[in-house]
Amino acid sequence: MKIGCYCGGTIHDGTDYLPTKAHFVSDEDFFDLLDELTKVIDLVSASSSSEGVEEQWKFLLWGKKLEYELPQRPLREIADSAIHNIMGRYTRIMYQCNQCGRLYINDWNHQLHCYEPHDEAVLRDILWSDRGKQPTTHLIGRWHTETHWPDKGNLYWHKSQNCESGTEKFNDYEEFEHRYFELFEQLNAEKNLRNASLRKDGEIIHVWYLYPQNA
Ligand SMILES: [Zn+2]
Repeated sequence: MKIGCYCGGTIHDGTDYLPTKAHFVSDEDFFDLLDELTKVIDLVSASSSSEGVEEQWKFLLWGKKLEYELPQRPLREIADSAIHNIMGRYTRIMYQCNQCGRLYINDWNHQLHCYEPHDEAVLRDILWSDRGKQPTTHLIGRWHTETHWPDKGNLYWHKSQNCESGTEKFNDYEEFEHRYFELFEQLNAEKNLRNASLRKDGEIIHVWYLYPQNA
């Protein structure tokens, strides 16, 4: 997706880790959001046979009680989906044009509203990560043995500040894994890697984060 700014600039939204995009929470919702995330932790530790557990999972997954059955998946995956869905329900999107600084904020019906900066001194990079402007590269490898897509393995890397990215596809697992670690070494040597992860059928094979190691 591209947004054409009133200044003539373009805001791109076709991938993750964008420096010109933010997910925000209204203060009126903030503590409800924390409560729902805490509820996920409570339910993970609760016995699945406890009364009302299934209904509570449905509420956390879909925001209301639906007639759908809970998916037959490991508890960790259900909790992971619940966290993603909760965050999706409580957050809205905003973008900034990094040429003129205009902010574009989604309302509750996903319509964008434009807000203009007061003067030239207003920051053009206000939505960038507070972890500093470097490093910005992300490397993601995903292998799905059972898939209806033509390729089982996908490698994706992305440098968020300048929007450079690359995708490679594989059908041989050893080749896929070898290439992941080759790219990992290469991107890490550029001193620009923020995080990397390799998963095979949902199982974590390799994960690396810059910040927790330095914390
Ligand atoms: Zn603009």
